[in-house]
Amino acid sequence: MAYPPSIGALKVYGENGQELDPTSTRHRIVEAFVHLALCLLETEEGQNSLAEVATTIIKEREGTSGTRSWRPRHIYRDSLANMPYWIRVFLRTAGHLEVSQAIISNMTYVRQHPEDAADAYDLFKFQMAITVAHEIVHMLTGFITGTSLPDTPPNVNVKPYIKKYGKGVQGEAGRYWESIILGGFVEFWSVPNHPLGMQQAGEPYLFLPGEKETAQGREVSRTYIKIFLREDFTSPIRPSSQSIKITRKCLEKEQKRKETSYLRSSAASRQAEGANSPPAAHPSAELTARFRRINLDADYGYAQLEGPSRGYFYR
Ligand SMILES: [Zn+2]
Repeated sequence: MAYPPSIGALKVYGENGQELDPTSTRHRIVEAFVHLALCLLETEEGQNSLAEVATTIIKEREGTSGTRSWRPRHIYRDSLANMPYWIRVFLRTAGHLEVSQAIISNMTYVRQHPEDAADAYDLFKFQMAITVAHEIVHMLTGFITGTSLPDTPPNVNVKPYIKKYGKGVQGEAGRYWESIILGGFVEFWSVPNHPLGMQQAGEPYLFLPGEKETAQGREVSRTYIKIFLREDFTSPIRPSSQSIKITRKCLEKEQKRKETSYLRSSAASRQAEGANSPPAAHPSAELTARFRRINLDADYGYAQLEGPSRGYFYR
């Protein structure tokens, strides 16, 4: 199904809740990666991956697989065979998400200073498209369980990732989805002494599921990223042909790199010198985006955009 190359009713709010001008750079940056995330999820493969996550959550919640003691409710009343239909309904509902102001500031900077950054803007956009798609998977959990802040059942995860990436005994639906459609997990690792310092995008790696310390990763092909940004998605993500297999431990201990989300954490921002990004705890640290799809088929009611100030809402 072809959607117009813009997002129906996207609204982006800055600090203090002011709506951003749609022609502003920050609005355009947010729109670009939210659009890319939705395009990925709307592909046939994207919809299949969402159906797989939703089906797994329902089976878990009914106790038909996995942990027997886990029997909380869900609100799905149709046959599991009709899940593809409900995924299409889900993709037309409204969503609300908050994005890090630090990343938007970095993206704005590298967009305005391409001479410093080569393909940094593209790398950020790739990273944010995957991040937003991951968050939308959490909204899907809310959609089928009827709660805005749902717990994911323990087996909706990538073993043995439960302890490493889920919280407590809860699973991590976003990570589970990544393993289905991306073939692993994309992480960005810093380049030591990079001229952009904490504003750098880092280098993208695809890690295979496994123990955090020993799972192997490879650098993602830049050609793959270029093609991805043209909305031409293939699964799984392709590593660079010259890349070697490496563990997170090696990246950290031997190559003195850090995962970039660590660089942007408030503690790291306070310690680092020459930090230009606002730390995560800064009052301007949150940007809010609300969006919904245009109802092309006119056969569904849309959620109202007004609603609780956080979490996911739909009807
Ligand atoms: Zn998640």
